[in-house]
Amino acid sequence: MTQPIEQVRSEFLPFAKPDVDQQEIDAVADVIASGWLTTGPRARAFEAAFAQYVGVKHAIAVNSATAAMHLALEASGLQAGDEVITTTMTFAATAEVVRYFSASPVLVDIDQKTMNIDVSQVEAAITPRTRAIIPVHVGGQAADLDPLHQIAQKHGLTLIEDAAHALPTYYKGRLIGALSDFTAFSFYATKTLATGEGGMITTNDDQWADRCRVMSLHGISKDAWKRYTSEGSWYYEIVAPGFKYNMTDVAAAMGLVQLSKLEQMNARRQEISCQYDAAFGAHAALETPYKSPDSTHPYHLYILRLNLPSLRIDRAAFINHLREANIGVSVHWIPLHMHPYYRETYGYHPEDFPVAFGEYQRIISLPIYSAMNDQDVADVISAVTQIADQYSR
Ligand SMILES: *Cc1c(COP(=O)(O)O)cnc(C)c1O
Repeated sequence: MTQPIEQVRSEFLPFAKPDVDQQEIDAVADVIASGWLTTGPRARAFEAAFAQYVGVKHAIAVNSATAAMHLALEASGLQAGDEVITTTMTFAATAEVVRYFSASPVLVDIDQKTMNIDVSQVEAAITPRTRAIIPVHVGGQAADLDPLHQIAQKHGLTLIEDAAHALPTYYKGRLIGALSDFTAFSFYATKTLATGEGGMITTNDDQWADRCRVMSLHGISKDAWKRYTSEGSWYYEIVAPGFKYNMTDVAAAMGLVQLSKLEQMNARRQEISCQYDAAFGAHAALETPYKSPDSTHPYHLYILRLNLPSLRIDRAAFINHLREANIGVSVHWIPLHMHPYYRETYGYHPEDFPVAFGEYQRIISLPIYSAMNDQDVADVISAVTQIADQYSR
């Protein structure tokens, strides 16, 4: 018989929440009081601090990771009709930026353990039109970059990392951000460093960096943002039809504070992940995240997998019970090939990527963020365990 899950909390626990205190509030207030709101000294300082942190030559601050990937593809010379290989297990942004060029995203299935792109299937997806590969570090754990670099080099492809979740992530001891042609980071409100909206492109290539910077602000030749400062000039030249992707100083001021707290915020997510692992690891109906020996895991996401044969309910029902227990959760992701646009445009069927399709049906992203207190963590554990116990076969 089923009985209602014991009410674990009276207040809803959001799935994600930025870790913001008086420092961010003061930094943003200072910018507002300074009279300079848009791209300026704070954006430059944030770029410099970020480049130094990840150990890369160039960091260009933009207003999203989507913009970062769009600019990277533009700088790499992507043309209409070209193809870009990526994974079906990702967010809308990774593939839509390819469509901006009237180029085609070519989707590849995932590795079952990490849920990152299945590197062994990448070469078979290469055609004479392939120009780039965009691996995604799902949850923050790095995709297997070494073989991807080999494939990219062999076929003359650009490698752009979608590192929206991978801050900070070490792949084989090296921090993500300087390992590929381009790396795109996100500072969206839910990410491990949050500025509301924001992103960063990193690259070691001078020319690519220049192109990204110029295209991020209307294709204006040089230091467009300086034209209203005392050092600036009224004269500028438009060298290409660029975009409006620059980061404001308001966001950058917040980013600087968040970067200074990154290690501390990461340490708290590590603690929470250890508590979840300990609580769920031995439960027959639950599967904790796989840990790759090649990568650290910053736990932007803690993706719990249900062992469906041991349960009498499906994932949707499991989530409904969590909602009843006032726990906010999410699903990362409904694979791209199952969405109407990609299904209809490219004729995909759910079973075309059987691993992603299978994992999709049993994944639940649990709340994991540094602003969670011990009671929040205990409530998540209690709710998940109660539901798993109650509906086990
Ligand atoms: C959040 C996210 C993005 C988009 O980031 P924005 O900064 O919102 O553009 C891209 N890829 C992945 C994997 C993401 O999770």
